[in-house]
Amino acid sequence: MTSLTFHGGVGEIGGNKILLEDGGKRIWLDFGMSFKQSGLYFDEFLQPKKYNGVIDFLEMGLLPGVTDMAGFYRQDYLAHADMPTSPDAAYDGVFLSHAHADHANYIHFLRSDIPIYASEVTKRILASLEDTSSSGFNEFLNFKETFTLRPKKTGEGMMKPKSEETKVARDFRALAPGERVVVGDLTVEAMAVNHSIPGALGFLVHTPQGVIAYTGDIRFHGYGGALTRDFVKRAAEAQPIALICEGTRVKKDEDETESLTEQDVQERVAKVVNQTKNLVIANYPWKDIERLRSFYEVAKMTGRKLALSLKQAYLLKRLEGTDAGAPSLGDGNIVIYIDRKTWGLINKPHYPQNIVEQDYSAWEREFLSYPNRVTCDDIHRHQSDFIVRVDFFDLTDLINIRPDDGSCYIRSITEPFDEEGEIELERVENWLKHFGLYPYEQVHASGHASGAEIKRLIEEINPKLVFPVHTEHPELFVAPPGTRVEIPQAGKSYRL
Ligand SMILES: [Zn+2]
Ligand SMILES: [Zn+2]
Repeated sequence: MTSLTFHGGVGEIGGNKILLEDGGKRIWLDFGMSFKQSGLYFDEFLQPKKYNGVIDFLEMGLLPGVTDMAGFYRQDYLAHADMPTSPDAAYDGVFLSHAHADHANYIHFLRSDIPIYASEVTKRILASLEDTSSSGFNEFLNFKETFTLRPKKTGEGMMKPKSEETKVARDFRALAPGERVVVGDLTVEAMAVNHSIPGALGFLVHTPQGVIAYTGDIRFHGYGGALTRDFVKRAAEAQPIALICEGTRVKKDEDETESLTEQDVQERVAKVVNQTKNLVIANYPWKDIERLRSFYEVAKMTGRKLALSLKQAYLLKRLEGTDAGAPSLGDGNIVIYIDRKTWGLINKPHYPQNIVEQDYSAWEREFLSYPNRVTCDDIHRHQSDFIVRVDFFDLTDLINIRPDDGSCYIRSITEPFDEEGEIELERVENWLKHFGLYPYEQVHASGHASGAEIKRLIEEINPKLVFPVHTEHPELFVAPPGTRVEIPQAGKSYRL
């Protein structure tokens, strides 16, 4: 018997956590964070308590209360919360479709011996997030055991070990597109798809009952759009018994003509940049390499340099040698914008280098000596030479950069909502008005297939059953004759 249980992504965009069970084997398709559920109870200053481990998350319905918690969640967290632990993992793997938080973030809470499968690019993006983010719940590849003590070196008394001392690597396995993983009677086939982050996969799970296809998050346009079309073709050939299908953009009265492609974004941004006398300031998702490429192409066409943030520079360095399609850090049209931090000494030449370096985290320091680094003063003095990315959390940089009249701001987020959390538009607009950057340009192309494309995808794949996930409108899914739409309920098991 094969069954599916949906522990997230039901009636909401993101938070996918789908359990697939077959003959005693149990695998997960994604294990993401639900922004909706989290937003009901928590915010920036009202956060789950670390000492409670998984308890706060279980209590508020953010993590699933599975049957075998001891074999699933982190042992250090369970033990500290006086919950049962187990020497053995009770689950056989998590297959991550991509590195967006709403699909991947909660692997932080899982035991280190449960294998995590994802593309090489996803692995490197998660490594990059782990190294650069300050959040307390980002142990994707390396697992630091907490709440432990060790004897002092002097032999007397106990001490808390440094986090480096308790570090264990997770069982993280990189999948090549087309690769198959055998788990008992299941064979999971990974297929590359295109989305607003590189390295995205869709899965075909071959079960004794037939194939279950999972789209993950997909779009048909963009530089890698052909990958999605290949996935659909391959899924159709497999004649699936079930299709777990995203529907982010499925809504009433969709106007498909509204939707731009990545190519349109490039053209429109080029037009705006060509008309801008001074500085071009843009905000786009920092992990969206296709969008970065669009801005990079425009920089090349218009004789400007694209200024990357330190996080982007680090990510690009991590992605070197992969098929993520990112430009090289040493490219003539790329510069690295070193923003001011802590004491803000980067543009104060009379301070010694070792003191300046202390403004930056270890992972940032190597970029300080890159020949193509720029500071706020460089950008201020040569405004017509740059396109600089300034995101919500860096809006104070505008005070240092001081854009002159004739500068512009391009808002180029992928979705009206943000899969990585809500952005406060009103506050952004106040900043833009203050700096004479209002009205601003809005140039956006979605990371998701349109409702009409999803309808055609279902027709082409022609599965027996469709489970709509990652959508606020599962009731609007339309299926061809011979296909039944089953709207999943959270926590309920569906036998196939
Ligand atoms: Zn998503
Ligand atoms: Zn996504």
